[in-house]
Order: sequence, then C-alpha cells, then structure tokens
Amino acid sequence: MSKNNNHFIAIIGGAVSGSTAASTLLDKGYKVAIIEQNARPYGKIEDGLPIWHQKQREQEYAKIDQKLDHPNLYFIPNTKLGTNISFDELTNKIKFSAIILAIGAWKDRPLPLKKSDSLINKGLIYQNKFIYWFNHREDINSLKENIQVIDGAIIIGGGLASIDVAKACQIELFIKAVREIKNIILDVEKIETNGIPKTCEKIGIAYKDLNIKGSTILYRRTATDMPLADIPDNATVQMIEKIKNVRSKILQKAKDKFLFNFEELSTPNKFLIKNGKINGIQIKKTELVDGKLIVTHKTKDIQTTQVISSIGSIPEPIEGIMMEGETYKVKDKNLGIYTEIDGIFLTGNVVTGKGNIRDSLKHAEKVSAYVANQYLSPLNNDLEDTAVKKVENFLAQKKELSNADLEIIQEKIIKLQSRVNYHNNYKEWISASQ
Ligand SMILES: Cc1cc2nc3c(=O)[nH]c(=O)nc-3n(C[C@H](O)[C@H](O)[C@H](O)COP(=O)(O)OP(=O)(O)OC[C@H]3O[C@@H](n4cnc5c(N)ncnc54)[C@H](O)[C@@H]3O)c2cc1C
Repeated sequence: MSKNNNHFIAIIGGAVSGSTAASTLLDKGYKVAIIEQNARPYGKIEDGLPIWHQKQREQEYAKIDQKLDHPNLYFIPNTKLGTNISFDELTNKIKFSAIILAIGAWKDRPLPLKKSDSLINKGLIYQNKFIYWFNHREDINSLKENIQVIDGAIIIGGGLASIDVAKACQIELFIKAVREIKNIILDVEKIETNGIPKTCEKIGIAYKDLNIKGSTILYRRTATDMPLADIPDNATVQMIEKIKNVRSKILQKAKDKFLFNFEELSTPNKFLIKNGKINGIQIKKTELVDGKLIVTHKTKDIQTTQVISSIGSIPEPIEGIMMEGETYKVKDKNLGIYTEIDGIFLTGNVVTGKGNIRDSLKHAEKVSAYVANQYLSPLNNDLEDTAVKKVENFLAQKKELSNADLEIIQEKIIKLQSRVNYHNNYKEWISASQ
C-alpha cells in the first residue's frame, strides 16, 4: 500500500479524458506529467466541436484549466508522441510508474471507395479537416488551406458529426448568399440558434430567392438507425422504439432548421471523375431485411463536385504502439488496459470509439481510478474481473519509486518543457496562448 505516493504518471493528451485522468490521480497525491501535441490542451473541444458551441466550449475549457492548474502537474505542451518523443523513449527511457494514452481519435476513417486517396482536395474532404476549417475560417492566417463549400455537396455518414457537417455547409452557403443578395453579414451562432427559416423571416427574405440547392447527407440505413441517441444494452423493445423515435425527431428538427437534404438507404459505390476531379458520386440503394443491410444493384448518379466524408475518426498510428485493425491493441477496453506492455493504459475517445464528452470523461474516471487503486496500490482491491486480477498479480510487485528516481524523471520533464519554452506556470502559458 502506498505511503508516500511516490509515483509519477505520464498522460499523453490533455483534453477531456487526459485532464480528467490527471485530476483523479493528482487528488490521490501522485505526480502527473501531461504531454500534449498542441500549445493548448483542449483537443476536440477546440478543433472538433463546431464553432457555434461557443458557450459549451468556454465551459469545457474552464473545466480542463481547473484540472491542470495544479502544483503536482507538469504540463509539456507542443510535444507530440511519435514525433517529438518516441513511444520507446516514453516507455523505456523515462521510468514513469504508469502511462495513460488519452490522445483521442484524429485520423478520419478512410472512405472505402476506389481512388479516394487521389481525390483528397480534388473534391473529397474529410470531416476533421472540414470542421477545423469551419472553426478557423475567419482567421485566414491560421489556415493551412482554404475550403470553399459547394452548393449541392454530398456528406457521407450518419452520426451527430455528419449532421454538424451538414449544418456547417448550410450555414456557410446561407451566409454567403445573404451577403451577396442583401449585403447583410450574418452571425453563425445566431443562425444556429434561430435556424435558417426564422432568420429569413427576420431579415425579410424568401429562402427560395437565395437559390440554394443544399447539401445532402447520404446514409446507408434509415433515420431511425442513425446513432443520434444511444440504445442501452439492456433496452426493452418499447425503449428501443422510443429511442428510434427520438433519433428521427433529432434528424427532422435539424432538417427543418437548416434545410439540408437526407437520402436514406444509400451507400456510395464509386466516384464519377472528370479531369482528375470529383464530378459526381454513384450510389447504390440498400434494403434492410430483418435488420440486415442488403446492397442492391439499383444505382443512381448524383452530380456534385464536393464530397465530405464523415464516417468516423480513429486513432492515429504511432510507431511502437501495436494496433488491432483500426484501433490500438487493448486487453480490456472497459479499463483501457493495453495488451503489449504492462503499465500502459488508454482512455477517452482513443478507446471508447464514442464521440462524446461525457463518455470520454466517465471512461477517464474509471481508468484513472483503476490505475490508482488496482495498479499502483493493488491492495485496494474491489474488482472481481479475472483479466484484471491477472494484471494485478503482476502489479502487486510494483514498488514505489525512490526519491532519486523521482528526481531523475523530474529532470527529464524539465528538459522537455525547456525545449518548448514552458516554465511550469500553466495559467501564464494559457493566457499567453489565447
Ligand atoms: C464534429 C464533432 C461534434 C461533436 N459534438 C459533440 C457534442 O455535441 N457533444 C459531446 O458530448 N461531444 C461531441 N463531440 C465529441 C467530443 O468533442 C469528444 O468525444 C471529446 O472531446 C473527446 O475527448 P478526448 O479527451 O477523449 O479526446 P480529444 O479531445 O481528441 O483529446 C486528445 C488530446 O490528445 C492530444 N494528442 C493527440 N495525439 C497526440 C500525440 N501524438 N502526442 C501528444 N498529444 C496528442 C490532442 O491534441 C488532444 O488535446 C463532437 C466531436 C466532433 C468531431
């Protein structure tokens, strides 16, 4: 059992899940280092949530700041695992007591269509890049490249993020058209709150006069199958019906407010290409037979020069981290235990695969409690799971670090911080990076 709490834990990624894990461990008296690739540790909150979530964004920033502004927290910004520090260096050279990967999912799942790779920026855009552009589009200097939303863009996907992409497209087209026709500059947040029809009423314009065709979400199943509201594992038939109804309503409400189109039971089949660029997309109609998806031979060509893929994000491969399919190899997903090396854990989006703040936060609380209670102090044992027990038996031999070991780790951390001119004053750093 830990007396001095002489443990130093490294957490990679400082956003919702990383900061939550850090806070739990700091509360137990451990020292924590956070290695973060960006200057600011806000992750998907800053660059994933569309800009109209301004209030939620500010609230989440404040929660992260509160968790990371702690005397035993060593923040290391602008340091990317896999680029500025290798996985080998992290796991073998610095003798951390445990390592938690909280690096989210930043790679767009590749669209499984022929020629996708060669059509990127030639009509094909992936969601992460698109939302980043949307959020930063008024600050042209911070953009590596500009994106032009094309009227009639096709969005492939079916989750909440695909609805956000459709909303962003519609809002952008609407703002542009109103500026051209009425010379009025509209505000994104106000349009998001009021919706397009109400905004039209307010400014005295008929939507049809703007001649916007609108973007279209293509989804392979039906509206009631869209993962817009979770169905719990133990849901009754009535509950499932209710949740499916909620999903339809969420979609309908978004369609009514932002006037995008929705084409269900459709899966992309191939790109239509002209002069090396996208000129359309061919879809195949699908059918659901006893809940099973059947792709039919019925095809339809849709003319468009822009396709935005919103089929999910997956973790970025990092040299040295073992993968299993699209994700990192885990022994226990629930507790985020990495398979290959003991003492390495994963938490948040990187392992839950669920793109929502609450799930990332809850998972981080669970993993960090496990790290603290079962891994670092294995005598505090109230978990019955056999796989976990196996790890615990090994970890029961885990000794606390000596003061000399702690000092060596601290020295290495200070070196990493000096590389990026960070002087262990979180508040000062954050206010300078606004
Ligand atoms: C378009 C969109 C809309 C969304 N809307 C909602 C919503 O309405 N409600 C909701 O609850 N959730 C929403 N989400 C999801 C939510 O934002 C995320 O699930 C949550 O913020 C994930 O937190 P995380 O800490 O697990 O991962 P992230 O926020 O991805 O954090 C990972 C951190 O690790 C850092 N990192 C990554 N790789 C490295 C590396 N190699 N080295 C060092 N640091 C690294 C990143 O910079 C980042 O700070 C949305 C997401 C998207 C994309």
